[in-house]
Amino acid sequence: MLAALLTAHGLERLAVSPVPIPVLGAQEVLVEVQALGVNQLDLNVIAGIGPGAAAALPRIPGIDPVGIIRAVGDSVDAERIGEPVVVKPNIPCGSCTFCAQGSEARCPRQTVIGVHRDGGAAEFVAVPASSAIARGELDAGLAVGMLHSLPIVLQALRAAGDVHEGQTVAISGATGVLGEVAAHYARHRGARVITVSRRPAPQLDDVQNIVAETRQLAARVRDVAPAGVDLALDTTGSAEVASALLGTLAWGATLSVCSASVSTELRVDLRQFYLGRHRLVGSASADYVDVRDAIALTAEGAVTPRIDSRYSLATITSAYERFSHPDRLGKVVIDVS
Ligand SMILES: [Zn+2]
Repeated sequence: MLAALLTAHGLERLAVSPVPIPVLGAQEVLVEVQALGVNQLDLNVIAGIGPGAAAALPRIPGIDPVGIIRAVGDSVDAERIGEPVVVKPNIPCGSCTFCAQGSEARCPRQTVIGVHRDGGAAEFVAVPASSAIARGELDAGLAVGMLHSLPIVLQALRAAGDVHEGQTVAISGATGVLGEVAAHYARHRGARVITVSRRPAPQLDDVQNIVAETRQLAARVRDVAPAGVDLALDTTGSAEVASALLGTLAWGATLSVCSASVSTELRVDLRQFYLGRHRLVGSASADYVDVRDAIALTAEGAVTPRIDSRYSLATITSAYERFSHPDRLGKVVIDVS
């Protein structure tokens, strides 16, 4: 089979090459990959930095493949052959107290497809059967568009008590993939949705986009929501933006963060925080139920992930380059078959 194989760090050391089809373990399935997305973690693996430094080389990257099960290990129901699936990027350990509660996102021993084991930038990938989640009729491109964003957003919003009708919700990073699917979901739940971004976001019905520099963010949100917001979600990974969002919170409201990629030192006005009965929650990765719900929300059209561009496996290097382009709006998809 063909796969994008990283033999040393650097994008120039990623080459599409023939490699053996993976041998299946008893609890695994073999997925024929239709498509996968480009994510910051892939670039970290390629550069050998941050969480990507955990990847031993040579490595096939690709954390979020979608495809069709073509073979199953000895302990897996053979009826799954032919099933269209998405592959959940984070693999929980399955045996800790968090996993036992169905709270897999909080598992402290998670590994990641395309980091700790070979990923989906290949014609076939072997994954744990539990990580391959049925997607029914959902289109492969749409599945990739939502797979590493919507489940994370669901996890982050649910950790803050979820979104309810009549609430006002502020979401940062409106031009990003996470921010846009979060806005779709919050609107679907019946909330008033205010998004903030540094450049204008695509117009969404019933969503108010505020374009503001970070230092003006809280005041600009307060202009349109004087009592503050019931829930704020930071998707930018910028501690400055998250700090500013704390200034938008209404009495008893929660700030949820689901990324910390740009800067990390949060500034909290402790008096405002405790007198306002505020809460702060952090979420990373997702539970199985978040992935299943994300599939259903996308299939019913409640959330429509934006696709920026599509590339073939042969041009995967261009896909990774496109990801960092300042004009990118939406998911970069790599079509494999
Ligand atoms: Zn666990």
